[in-house]
Amino acid sequence: ANFKAFGFPNTILSALDDAGYTTPTPIQAAAIPEILKGRDVLALAQTGTGKTAAFALPMMALLMRQHGTRVPKSTKALILAPTRELAIQIFENIRTYSRHSHVRAVVTVGGVSIGPQKKALEAGVDILIATPGRLLDHMNQRTVRLDGVTHLVLDEADRMLDMGFIRDIRKIEAALPKQRHSMMFSATMPADVEELGRFLLHQPHRIDL
Ligand code: AMP
Repeated sequence: ANFKAFGFPNTILSALDDAGYTTPTPIQAAAIPEILKGRDVLALAQTGTGKTAAFALPMMALLMRQHGTRVPKSTKALILAPTRELAIQIFENIRTYSRHSHVRAVVTVGGVSIGPQKKALEAGVDILIATPGRLLDHMNQRTVRLDGVTHLVLDEADRMLDMGFIRDIRKIEAALPKQRHSMMFSATMPADVEELGRFLLHQPHRIDL
């Protein structure tokens, strides 16, 4: 199998070609068709398996399908990650995948000054990658709008809960439209992650490779 079989736009295919991706990894082969169908997904996935592309590529393809080549710059997709490092890594991957398209990604994490992030958000964003604490800062300062979010990803959900982000996640969820497409990835599936899945996801397709 190759990435053409998913029906991705040529802009994505050529970026994958540039990056040297030829064959989807198992998590990509399992998740991409379900996400493209618009289904919610709950996936057990470790780092290094290609999980970032497993959610980022179909989400980008859906945004392009829904909005044409010009995605409106109004935060259509939100990706939450537990750490600054992971958020930046996801952002870098999406930049790689979107280098031939008009999709604009912005990353907002804590530990750095908020001013440049406000400017970046003001300039418009299609895909926002954030850590929960800094996203709440932006929400409180009204520098981000989440009422147009159509796609939500929670990455490393188990780590989010271990780090005590449950209240932040619930506050962020409350600002999102109820009608949305949601995905959750986690390296482990303890009871509290299952519970978060029941809270965030609607009849998810489960992937447990
Ligand atoms: P991740 O698990 O998302 O952190 O990805 C692990 C590494 O694998 C990253 O460096 C990706 O760029 C790379 N990668 C992801 N999917 C593929 C693929 N289908 N072919 C080759 N490399 C990939």
